[in-house]
Amino acid sequence: AVARAQRHKTKLAILFLDLDKFKEVNDTLGHHVGDDLLKIVAQRLSSVVRDSDLVARLGGDEFVVLVPDMVRDDQINLLAERALKSLQLPMIIGTSELVMSASIGVAVLGSCAENSTDLMKYADIAMYQAKQEGRNQIRFYSDGIHQAVQARATIEYDLRQALEQGQLRVYYQAQMTADSGVVKGIEALLRWEHPERGLLLPEEFLVTAEEMGLIVPIGDWVLRTACLQLSQWQKRSETADLRLVIAVNLSAIQIRGDSLLQSVDDALSQSQLPSSCLELEITENALIDDTEHAMYILNRLVARGVALSLGDFGIGYSTLQHLKQLSIQALKIDQEFVSAIGQGVQNDRLLSAMICFAQTLKLTVIAEGVETREQADFCREHGCDLLQGFYYSKPVPAEEFEAQFLK
Ligand code: C2E
Ligand code: MG
Repeated sequence: AVARAQRHKTKLAILFLDLDKFKEVNDTLGHHVGDDLLKIVAQRLSSVVRDSDLVARLGGDEFVVLVPDMVRDDQINLLAERALKSLQLPMIIGTSELVMSASIGVAVLGSCAENSTDLMKYADIAMYQAKQEGRNQIRFYSDGIHQAVQARATIEYDLRQALEQGQLRVYYQAQMTADSGVVKGIEALLRWEHPERGLLLPEEFLVTAEEMGLIVPIGDWVLRTACLQLSQWQKRSETADLRLVIAVNLSAIQIRGDSLLQSVDDALSQSQLPSSCLELEITENALIDDTEHAMYILNRLVARGVALSLGDFGIGYSTLQHLKQLSIQALKIDQEFVSAIGQGVQNDRLLSAMICFAQTLKLTVIAEGVETREQADFCREHGCDLLQGFYYSKPVPAEEFEAQFLK
């Protein structure tokens, strides 16, 4: 098809289609339902294309549509939209009615790719982009995506060096008691001192580190560094408050693996920090995949005396079921709610209800992202135990934290 298109100077496009959440269908309804679903998808795709187009299943839930001899540019877009819509109609399989969606990537010969290998590769990358941007959509491989892919490759390369070459840092942010205004907790937050780009925040590299699996060694390093730091502070400072707790963020990938327990044990024994001084922060999305394994690992940590706190509360997939199965000690109220304090009755009521809810469960309530006096007062008056945010301090390097809070 590529040779023909080049010879006749016609357009050729590839639609790379991947079903969204197909694995869930297999896992919850069984493989026979998954198989039937794939057949329906194949029929629907075939029904929206022209006779001269080719529909193929690459494997799994990946399909490709080869569209030769395109006349107009918008033709391919229309086709992709028709394909997407055709999959959104309910599918009846046995007694189940399923509503599916797909992510579609498109690459056009000549506009970016010059051969079949690149054409497939770029359509795949565009599909991946569609998934990343929230699924159920179409993405064309473009200069923008090309640059994003290049940038990602650079980040990947640099990130491998970051850990080895000691470019990573842990910054510390205070969590103050609401009643007496003293430091009680310290959140450890990862930073990357990139040799060319300066100090990078986690949002610029964390997802990549997770996708590469590098978050596991990086997370171990954060754990060790943070535990060691608190232990040193406790030993050094004369006014050492031994009740200080260090909070370390955990990625879902770390919880999914099987080395976390050992890493926590190592960090605690190397630093000689009592396990009661360590708190691990998880978010609800860490519990969604393979909930059973996550629960097992997290409850083993709790058995060691480590505290668990749940972050992003109220903005993720909050299932109360999780709170029943896990011994969580603290709930972190997301800054989305805190920053909207005083801007609407609805938010304020919701916030105070969330605080009540946590109190009823006897959880420590930590308000995140407190930036103003008004927000601090509100959180205190409504019963938050700990307050964290720029109003008290930004995350800072260890020396600064020490000077600010521990002298
Ligand atoms: P998070 O756990 O929700 O951390 C709180 C974030 O809010 C931090 O962003 C912090 O700098 C920021 N913050 C604190 N107070 C305020 C405030 O008053 N106003 C505003 N606007 N922001 C405030 P940061 O450091 O960029 O971290 C972002 C996220 O990256 C964290 O969100 C956490 O999920 C993740 N992260 C950070 N360090 C690590 C780590 O060592 N391991 C893992 N797995 N994730 C980490
Ligand atoms: Mg956190």
